[in-house]
Amino acid sequence: MESSNNAFSQNNQAKDLSSAMRYIAEPYRIRVIEPIGQTTRSQREEALAKVGFNPFLLHSKDVFIDLLTDSGTGAVTQSMQAAMLMGDEAYSGSRSYFGLKEAVEDIFGYQTTIPTHQGRGAEQLYVPSLIKKREREKGLSRDKMTVISNFFFDTTQGHSQWHGCKIVNVPVPAAFDTKVKADFKGNFDLDLLEKTIEDIGPKHIPYIVSTITCNSAGGQPVSVTNLKEVYRIAKQYDIPVVMDCARFAENAYFVKQREPGFSHMSIEEITHLSFQYADVLAMSAKKDAMVPIGGLLAFKDDSLDDVYQECRTLCVLLEGFPTYGGLEGGAMERLAVGLYEAMREEWLESRIGQIQYLVDGLEAIGVQCQQAGGHAVFIDAGAILPHIPKDQFPGHVLACELYRVAGIRSAEIGSLLIGRDPSSGVQLPAPAELLRLAIPRATYTQAHLDYVIAAFQLVMNGCQNLKGLTFTYEPPVLRHFNAQFVEVA
Ligand SMILES: *Cc1c(COP(=O)(O)O)cnc(C)c1O
Repeated sequence: MESSNNAFSQNNQAKDLSSAMRYIAEPYRIRVIEPIGQTTRSQREEALAKVGFNPFLLHSKDVFIDLLTDSGTGAVTQSMQAAMLMGDEAYSGSRSYFGLKEAVEDIFGYQTTIPTHQGRGAEQLYVPSLIKKREREKGLSRDKMTVISNFFFDTTQGHSQWHGCKIVNVPVPAAFDTKVKADFKGNFDLDLLEKTIEDIGPKHIPYIVSTITCNSAGGQPVSVTNLKEVYRIAKQYDIPVVMDCARFAENAYFVKQREPGFSHMSIEEITHLSFQYADVLAMSAKKDAMVPIGGLLAFKDDSLDDVYQECRTLCVLLEGFPTYGGLEGGAMERLAVGLYEAMREEWLESRIGQIQYLVDGLEAIGVQCQQAGGHAVFIDAGAILPHIPKDQFPGHVLACELYRVAGIRSAEIGSLLIGRDPSSGVQLPAPAELLRLAIPRATYTQAHLDYVIAAFQLVMNGCQNLKGLTFTYEPPVLRHFNAQFVEVA
């Protein structure tokens, strides 16, 4: 453990006390209250049937603890709220835009910035622009066009497929094995990355996406060494790298904890270093940057200036003028502050501590989980419901049951989410059937987490009687958002 030279450190005193407890006392006070309502089991059964067994479609008033996502659902800080008032709402050239651009340059070292309304707003700009560049310069063939990631987030996959790309994920083999514990289960399998590039031919690969943390593998971090190697390989084949970085601060926190040679560095230093190993930054700011709405697209230098210009043009069409990109001035001010506050180490420690607490509590009652990562607990639904076939969505069945039992909303990460190959219509193989309990930032307390554990005990008691689900409506892309189901007889 590191020792502090500072004889009087408030921080360490609090830590000494905390380490005697099972749990880190929240390093903040909660001063705004949002009421949430309890429902009865029969009300919940009715609500769930009404939305075709898709908790995504529930009204939030019918949800007691909402663990659907940590995206835009967390607490904001008083500094972020205060910053909102400073918004410059000029249509173009807003002071708030230049403040945000400066923050991006300072934190990540990226020169040019386009704000977007959220992460997918950035995706709808860079995806077609990078494809066009490849076509123009290398003669990429549309039918071979493929993009590669450690694991694509669902909207990143969706945008890539929408523009005609095949997607290939090259995670390390242990990524989805919930029995294996490893420091960086979000890493790329570097040999497989290189082999995939060789097999497809680099000119048909418009971009590689480094996703930090790797959401789909359970919020698992990627090491700086791995990011560096990915970048080296990509440069060797002249393929641009996009850092899909919604959880950049959580990733840096894990690097500090786990990667040899980084424990002495600050979260800020690790963040800055990590972003050297990409060309483009695409961020959903609704995660680590804590804003209810917002995103970023940024470019490290002028080597992709043509892509940047193309993105600015598309931005006018799709998001808004490039100095606001779908955000009001106040929201850009709030985001600039959120980017910095995301990197407060004691908050990251508390947050990751909550995830660990929930994993420990669930494992103690026999629920098999992916090792604790950032932002969410991932439960091995396939192991809990072995009698339900993958194409009847064990993770989604478990999500429905958790809602019925306790009013807790969660999300499937498995066959339902990964969907079908758009060209053949064949179900893509999901690496695991998981249920995700995402934890909004600084929103729920330890008592809420204990309630979740108690609810799971009830779910486990009756799980052998649960039935699979089949579609009554299946949307063509991102089907998990709007699909409807019936129970298989
Ligand atoms: C959330 C997320 C996105 C999409 O962002 P939205 O803000 O939801 O549009 C993209 N990539 C990753 C890794 C994400 O976590």
